[in-house]
Amino acid sequence: MPDAPITIAIDGPSGSGKSSVSKAVARELGLGYLDTGAMYRALAWWCLEREIDLADQPSVAQAARELPLVMGTDPDDSSVRVGGTDVGAAIRETRISEQVSAVATNLDVRAELRRRQRELIEQERRRHGGVVVEGRDITTVVAPDAEHRILVTASEDARLSRRATELHGAAAAEQLAATHDQVVRRDRDDATVSAFFEPADGVVGLDTSDLTFEQSVRAVLDIVHGAVPVTAAGPPDPGTPHTPDAEEHR
Ligand code: C5P
Repeated sequence: MPDAPITIAIDGPSGSGKSSVSKAVARELGLGYLDTGAMYRALAWWCLEREIDLADQPSVAQAARELPLVMGTDPDDSSVRVGGTDVGAAIRETRISEQVSAVATNLDVRAELRRRQRELIEQERRRHGGVVVEGRDITTVVAPDAEHRILVTASEDARLSRRATELHGAAAAEQLAATHDQVVRRDRDDATVSAFFEPADGVVGLDTSDLTFEQSVRAVLDIVHGAVPVTAAGPPDPGTPHTPDAEEHR
């Protein structure tokens, strides 16, 4: 357990690799792990179960306040339960990915889920010495006072190909086309309520386009351990000199 509690806030667009990297960092440091995207997905799932029209904003906001959600915060068992049902697999289905932004762009929903997220962060700081929290608005709104704030990005091509491989096992033209809506359109909708393409002031930007999973985890750990100075422009790519030229290619 660290000497003083720490929160590591990690934001990024779809397919940036932030979920798997965040989980690995939490495991490595012995911290809790909170996937805030899963909370929005769980709400979308519950509304669909109860046949609530996602465009009916007051009803969806009411559902958010009543949602019987229990988030597992162990990086080795990040379960998601709604009313005792394990929805871990169901919330990853395409129908949820396609519709979750309708729920997440409801501002009353965001207020309620942020309240719950802050409570969970406090709980993890007390119980486990800290937490890695990932999402879209963690560095900017949910936990702007986090000890470490990182924005994980990747080029659109890299994000599409990662998501296509994850969902369809390959990244040929057909799979890339099938994934386009879930990455590009979803990010565009989500970006209307959160800023996750450029690091805010004091947030370290990490471009993982050319990094392997292991290199990305190492880069985040280096940032947390203070091996990378926080600059407005973000850290250098691991293993390459921090030259103005490298910056231009971000
Ligand atoms: O991270 P993931 O892709 O699972 O997130 C699912 C959805 O939840 C996003 O597309 C976005 O609509 C919403 N979300 C959000 N704010 C967060 C995390 C996720 O709006 N902090």
